Amino acid sequence: MVARQEIQENGVAEMMNAYVVTEKEHGEVLEVPIPILRDDEVLLEVKAAGLCGTDTHIYQGEYFSEFPLVPGHEFAGVIASAGKNVSRFEAGERVTADPNVACGYCSYCQESMENFCRNFQGVGVTRDGAFAQFVAVPQQCVFPIGDLPFDEAAFIEPLACVVYGQKRARPPIGASVLVVGAGAIGQLHIQLAKRNGAAAVAALDTDSEALKLASSLGADHCLENSPEGREELARRYPDGFSMVIDCTGIPEVVETLPAWVRPGGSLLVFGVCPENSRMTVNPFDIFRRDLTIIGSFALKKTFPEALALLQSGDIAVKPLVSRRLDLEAVPQTLAAYAAGDLKGKSLLIF
Ligand SMILES: [Zn+2]
Ligand SMILES: [Zn+2]
Repeated sequence: MVARQEIQENGVAEMMNAYVVTEKEHGEVLEVPIPILRDDEVLLEVKAAGLCGTDTHIYQGEYFSEFPLVPGHEFAGVIASAGKNVSRFEAGERVTADPNVACGYCSYCQESMENFCRNFQGVGVTRDGAFAQFVAVPQQCVFPIGDLPFDEAAFIEPLACVVYGQKRARPPIGASVLVVGAGAIGQLHIQLAKRNGAAAVAALDTDSEALKLASSLGADHCLENSPEGREELARRYPDGFSMVIDCTGIPEVVETLPAWVRPGGSLLVFGVCPENSRMTVNPFDIFRRDLTIIGSFALKKTFPEALALLQSGDIAVKPLVSRRLDLEAVPQTLAAYAAGDLKGKSLLIF
C-alpha cells in the first residue's frame, strides 16, 4: 500500500476536488491538497456521501464548525492508503466510518459516554469531511461494509443515530408510536420502531409525498399535520401515544408534542432545534401524567447495529433518496436547502 503522506513529504503535491465552506453561507468546489495522514489514520476514496440537515446548519454558521471546512459526515468508500500504524485494512477494501472521533481517555470516554468526549472531533464537522474525493479518518472509526452498496452504506451514520435514539427511548412492546416529521430521519424512525416492538406507528407531516412514503415503509396511519389531520389522529388514538418522536427540529412543533404523549409515556427530542430556541412546557402536566422527555445526541457505538440492520435488508434506505448529485452540484444544493427551497435527501455520488 502506498502511504500518501510519504508521497507528500517527498514534495509531490497531490491535489483533489472538494466542496469547501469558506465562510458562513459560502461554499465552492476547490482544488485542495489530499489530507495528510497521521500514523493511525486511513485515507478513504469517497464513493457516496449523504447531505443532511447538519450540513445546512454548518453552512449557515449555526453549528460549532470553523471555516474553511469540508463538510460531509455520512459516507462510504474504499481504502486508498493507510498510516504506518494501520494493519487491519487493505487497499480497495469497502468501508464506512463513524465520523465521531472520541479521544478514549477523557472522563466522559472513561464512563462510556463517548458522545460527550471533551476532545471530540467530528469528521465533516470539526475536521474535513467527505464532500471530497478523499477523506482521512482514524482507524478506530472505520467499519468494513462487505458488499453493501455504497449508496446504502452512506445511511449507516444517520441510522446509527436513530438506533441510539431508540436505545435511549425504547418503545414498549405493543406500543403506539407517533413520528412527527417524515423526512429521511423520520422514515428511519418509523421503520425501526416497527421492528423495535411498536404495534402501531403513526406519522404526521405537512408533505403528502413524505406521508405516502411513510405508508409504504410501514407506518399504519399517515396524517397531514393540519387541524383536520390532527383531529383524525386524536380520534384514532384517543389515549395518545406511548412514545412520540420529534423529527422536525422545529420548536413550535416540539412544543405541541407533550400533549400527544399518553400517561407514563415519553417524548424523544430527536430533531435538532436551533441552539438558542425556547419553548414552553406545562410542568404540572409532566408531573401529573408521569411524562418523560428524552434527548438523544448523535450516536454512541451504534454503527455495528445500524450496519447489521442495513445488511439484513430490514430497513429500506434507497426510497429515501430524493436526488443524486455530483460534487459540482453541491454548492447550489446546500444553498437551496439553506434557503428552504429544497426537501428530501440528497446523495453525493462519485
Ligand atoms: Zn447527518
Ligand atoms: Zn474523550
